[in-house]
Amino acid sequence: MPSGVKSEVRSYQMYINGEWVDSASNKTTAVIDPSTEEVIAQVPAGNVEDVNRAVAAARAAFDTGPWAASTPQERGRILFRLSEKIRENAAHLAEIESRNCGKPIVEAEYDINDAATCFEYYAGMATKVLGTVNPVPDNAVSLTMKEPMGVAAMITPWNYPLLMATWKMAPALAAGCTCILKPPGVTPLTALELTKWLPEVGLPPGVLNVVTGSGSVCGTALVRHPDVNKIAFTGSNSVGKGIIKEAADTLKRVTMELGGKSPNIFFADADFENAIDGALFGVFINQGEVCSAGSRILVERSIYKKFVEAMTEKAKTIRLGPPLERETKMGPMVSQDQYDTVRAYQELGKKEAKMSTGGGRAAKFAKGYYIEPTIFYDVDNSARISQEEIFGPVAVVIPFDDEKDAIRIANDTPFGLAGAVWTRDLFKAFRTVKALRAGIIWVNHMQPTYVEAPWGGYKQSGYGRELGPWGIEEYLESKQVHINLNEQPIGWY
Ligand code: NAP
Ligand code: MG
Repeated sequence: MPSGVKSEVRSYQMYINGEWVDSASNKTTAVIDPSTEEVIAQVPAGNVEDVNRAVAAARAAFDTGPWAASTPQERGRILFRLSEKIRENAAHLAEIESRNCGKPIVEAEYDINDAATCFEYYAGMATKVLGTVNPVPDNAVSLTMKEPMGVAAMITPWNYPLLMATWKMAPALAAGCTCILKPPGVTPLTALELTKWLPEVGLPPGVLNVVTGSGSVCGTALVRHPDVNKIAFTGSNSVGKGIIKEAADTLKRVTMELGGKSPNIFFADADFENAIDGALFGVFINQGEVCSAGSRILVERSIYKKFVEAMTEKAKTIRLGPPLERETKMGPMVSQDQYDTVRAYQELGKKEAKMSTGGGRAAKFAKGYYIEPTIFYDVDNSARISQEEIFGPVAVVIPFDDEKDAIRIANDTPFGLAGAVWTRDLFKAFRTVKALRAGIIWVNHMQPTYVEAPWGGYKQSGYGRELGPWGIEEYLESKQVHINLNEQPIGWY
């Protein structure tokens, strides 16, 4: 078992080939509670040797181990049991996620529930992967068989740690792949907690390995390793682009869930109160550390002034506080690094636009990486704060003249992850839905996400889709099989 509680500071080990182990380096990394800046855990600082051991275990489990011979029914049952473990321990996992990320406990509870639901969904899907019979012209049966891609490595971000890992592990395991998860350096704890139940639910050694360590060391080693067949990445554009280049040498399959700068578009006929809530929720949920954050708020000029005023008044009442308090709506930024990044954008914004609220550190907290919800208005869409992903509680409000203008501004971004449109006019809503170049569009809401529906970006927000039947396809290869039914000689000579 992981070494468990030693004192206030928990010590964790990695999980490789069914065993809890320290890093080959014997070094550890401190994990911080961003609301107190105190060390809450120590995790192994993995290195290339650890990655090599994990890949060897995953390779053997895939090629010759019991996983290779497992049936979809068996894999499904294991995933159902894992989902039950998550539900039974949901309060514990949510508390750890909340403390480690600084996210409000109520939101962490949703995340853990969603992770359990995702395992259930793919547990059911394990037995629903279908091949095809292809209508070839000759006297033959042509089949397409679906087979697991092999060893899949998952490299995940810190904003929804267990959930982003689950979106990858659940379909990969259902498909019959073996996995190595490299959780984010700052928030590795819930992934390590999950390993506690893997033997109990019947997952054979080597099928799912968790290696903690930095992206530059462990992430790079996974991307370069010739025995890894697939990289599933969620994270920033700059790291994603580097991974694509590195992965080219071994021609790995890669899926990329990257950043965004999503437009949240408000037409004058939208329900005003709902619209204000939707604008704030869209950008400030999870302290703005959301890939699909509606961080560019586009408002029709006839309601623009009133909209900015109402948003500003409401934003001032958002309750910042300790993540574990149930009334808290926004916690601290995840790390000192992220705090510094967002603070720098607040200062940049003051030069590029007007500011209606926020703009600095949340002064009432002596400790912790707390940042005020910040609204910039009269912002030009070409400003850096309109073009670059900030990944914190910073909203940019931009006026538009009409539908055509709104769509032009909305699409004027290298990103294409998500977008939302608010109007009571069905025709206008659907014209906008069709015109937006992004992978996820909401109408009269922003952010609800369902395991049954696809998630992923257009343009520089990445490629591939997670969730739903699309999610499992990313871990499957198609094998074409031709069976000759013609008993005559081929007749070539
Ligand atoms: P990040 O800095 O790109 O890190 C993501 C992961 O990559 C971490 O596990 C990191 O490890 C690892 N990594 C860093 N350098 C690497 C390298 N050279 N080779 C291989 N792996 C490497 O992203 P983040 O700061 O954690 O998360 C924020 C970003 O994620 C934002 O851009 C956000 O939009 C995006 N995101 C997208 C989605 C989506 O679904 N589209 C969802 C959530 C987040 P270490 O942290 O240990 O160094
Ligand atoms: Mg980062």
